[in-house]
Amino acid sequence: MRLVVLGSGTSVFHAQRAAAGFWLETEGGSLLLDCSADAPHRMAEEALDWANLDAIWISHLHLDHCGGLASFLFGIKHAPQTQSRQKPLKIFGCAGVKPFLKAIDESHDFNLCKLPFPLELKEISTDNTDEFEILTECKARVQSTPHRPESLALRLTDARGTTLVYTSDTGFSRDVAEFARGADLLVLECSFYREKPVQTHLELADALRIATIAEPRKLLLTHPYPEWDGIDLEGEAKKLWPGETIAARDGLRLTI
Ligand SMILES: [Zn+2]
Ligand SMILES: [Zn+2]
Repeated sequence: MRLVVLGSGTSVFHAQRAAAGFWLETEGGSLLLDCSADAPHRMAEEALDWANLDAIWISHLHLDHCGGLASFLFGIKHAPQTQSRQKPLKIFGCAGVKPFLKAIDESHDFNLCKLPFPLELKEISTDNTDEFEILTECKARVQSTPHRPESLALRLTDARGTTLVYTSDTGFSRDVAEFARGADLLVLECSFYREKPVQTHLELADALRIATIAEPRKLLLTHPYPEWDGIDLEGEAKKLWPGETIAARDGLRLTI
């Protein structure tokens, strides 16, 4: 698997961090993990093959994670690069993603679901325990997270057995930590340094408690609010967890 960080940021606009988005390539195709308003432009900026993207994952309905979905569909509906495309685009998202898109679609004659190629849209509920194929030979499972009623963490396993877990936004949860156990890469939010103002996000100590339970091979901490600016996240993490922690930044590329 190969991961490109498109957006390591949050809903707060930041000069160096776009809002959430991660490009993942596997042998079975490409997957966009969350689609902030910044993500479509960032895919182009990173010279990624957005016209042939195979699937999109939407973790929850905060706009720093899904605000680019309608504009991405609008873009690929009309782009010259997609007019001869035949393979479908699959969207897997949390509960509510269908009415979210429908509301935008019906506000104007966008016809966002009528693309030059097939579009498949599937909602995944928080009580879903079934494994599903998100890309060819790439299996997915989900776990509810204490962030929003609909929010989901995603666990991906490719044909080689390589595993990536993307929690997206979450509060502290032992269930989420167990869900991430043994991942080759755990992409975990770390919104705050300390004294977090809400229970529905993580601060550093929470994130590393999850890492201590999950024992991932590598930990990628993302979604830092601007409070983190100027703080050495990797250095601070090392004091609390001995494993390999990587601070996400836009444009970072990792091979897993
Ligand atoms: Zn967020
Ligand atoms: Zn959120």
